[in-house]
Amino acid sequence: MFSLFSFTMAIPFLGILFNTKEMVTEPVAFEFSAKAVQHNFNYFITQIIQSEGPSTALIYISIFMVFMVFLKTSFNYLGNFTIIPLINGIIRDIRNKLYKKIVNLPVAYYSEEKRGDVMLKATGDVQEIANTIFRPLRKAIPAPIQIIVYIGALFYMNYKLTIFALILIPVSGYVIALVGKNLRKASVKGQDSLGVLLSIIEETLYGLRIIKAFNSEKRSTQKFGKQNQHYTDIMNKVLRKRILAHPFSEFLSTTVIVIIMWYGGSLVLQNATTLTPQAFIAYLAIFSQIIQPSKTLSNYYYNVKKGLASFDRVNSILDAEETIKEKPNARSIENFEQSIVYKDLSFRYNTDWVLKDINLEINKGEMVAIVGQSGAGKSTLVNLLPRFYDATRGDILIDGNSLKDLKIKHLRDLMGLVSQESILFNDTVFNNVAFGRDEVAEEDVIQAAKVANAHVFIEELPEGYQTYIGDMGNKLSGGQRQRLSIARAVLKNPPILILDEATSSLDTESEKLVQDALSRLMHNRTSIVIAHRLSTVREADKIAVMYQGSISEIGSHDKLIKNDGIYKKLHEMQMFS
Ligand code: ADP
Repeated sequence: MFSLFSFTMAIPFLGILFNTKEMVTEPVAFEFSAKAVQHNFNYFITQIIQSEGPSTALIYISIFMVFMVFLKTSFNYLGNFTIIPLINGIIRDIRNKLYKKIVNLPVAYYSEEKRGDVMLKATGDVQEIANTIFRPLRKAIPAPIQIIVYIGALFYMNYKLTIFALILIPVSGYVIALVGKNLRKASVKGQDSLGVLLSIIEETLYGLRIIKAFNSEKRSTQKFGKQNQHYTDIMNKVLRKRILAHPFSEFLSTTVIVIIMWYGGSLVLQNATTLTPQAFIAYLAIFSQIIQPSKTLSNYYYNVKKGLASFDRVNSILDAEETIKEKPNARSIENFEQSIVYKDLSFRYNTDWVLKDINLEINKGEMVAIVGQSGAGKSTLVNLLPRFYDATRGDILIDGNSLKDLKIKHLRDLMGLVSQESILFNDTVFNNVAFGRDEVAEEDVIQAAKVANAHVFIEELPEGYQTYIGDMGNKLSGGQRQRLSIARAVLKNPPILILDEATSSLDTESEKLVQDALSRLMHNRTSIVIAHRLSTVREADKIAVMYQGSISEIGSHDKLIKNDGIYKKLHEMQMFS
């Protein structure tokens, strides 16, 4: 409104200059109508011209214009100021929602997806949505309002000319839409390709030592270069399409203005009383003000097309199915009392059966070892227990309850997991041990570290328990990392313990320390131990020998040796090595 007022000031201004200003000598009663306001304003100007001369009137008009522009820009600023936290808040919410989803998605989801791509979706794509869809809203929301107000004013000034102008606008709009058509598809391709690129970088950082050791720098660089070129080609196409928005809208808008100048000019020449020259100039000035918001809108259209591509990618995570679901009436389980039973259980990741008709009973307090060749399905078997995956056929029962009927949080609270690769976070020793719990007393952490044979080396670290251990704990040795994982399990104090080759990546020296810590951890607990080295599970109550997805033998060490089957062969091989 204020910018409209400042532009209409051109009419009396030019009227005075051209000496064609109509004089108004009588005011009318005040009313909220354009006619009345206009009339009284003209009366006010006439008064000034008559009493103080036209030059002073020009000054008054100019001051009024500046005041109007001041109001316009101030309100513009205030509007933007208010909307910024709103827009940033939307983006924050999307990020939070994504992170929550990423944490909640089942483990299986990530064997299908590239980690780099997931990272790009959660960062780059969210940013892209922010920059193309939400941040420009600041301008795109007022644009249609501005256009409507300006067009309303134009109608009021001269409806014939305005109808003529309005016919031109949809035509140019259609042309602009035509160009933006394929932009979304091309943009999706671009982001996908960038995702692959990011995955390569991620893998490189993870496997840098291997790349160097195998003299693979050149091959890696070439692989990266090829993908990078692929991405660049796509982006060339996308951006070339996008930059079309600018010349198109500029060319079209200028053409439209010229056509209107021609038509309006001929109206003025025909009859200067229906359209005075100064009104026509003001008309053009206001019309030109429609161009900026129209450009904003057409640019916004292109941006949204591009942004929707990222939107689709983000949605591919948000809409991903959480296959591990908790039933609405899931039961609580506070304690483990009797047994874990694998009942006629079969499982496959994709098409091939990885576990076939498994039947296994683990009673409270027992230590059950799972042994067998690599690839036999040992890890898969234990990964079903905390429901990282769900059985394809058959079931697992805890104290007679199917896992699927239990609250997932309760189920996982019952278990502690120590795997071959110690999973640590870039945080302090203290926080890594206390991971996943809210308020932990220092004595408890120290006590847990002592049980895990970790206290001594932690004390020797530069800042003790407050030392940062680096990405994935890379400032510690393998054995130290593993003992921290064990301390974490000790602190959690779960009734059921799952050890997945917890010592197999360690040297003999640290293995002894870790094994010692593990024995203390397993004391008085039910434990399921996957072991590569058979010597570590000799004492187990039951040893289940897995062969190609089935349990081929089960029993104590002595019984299995007597059995003269696979276990005995494995045992003999290890004795001699
Ligand atoms: P083990 O622990 O005895 O070495 P695993 O349980 O890790 O054996 O693997 C058993 C089989 O399942 C292997 O053939 C392996 O290739 C396959 N496998 C393991 N994880 C996945 C997965 N995420 N997707 C598809 N197949 C998998």
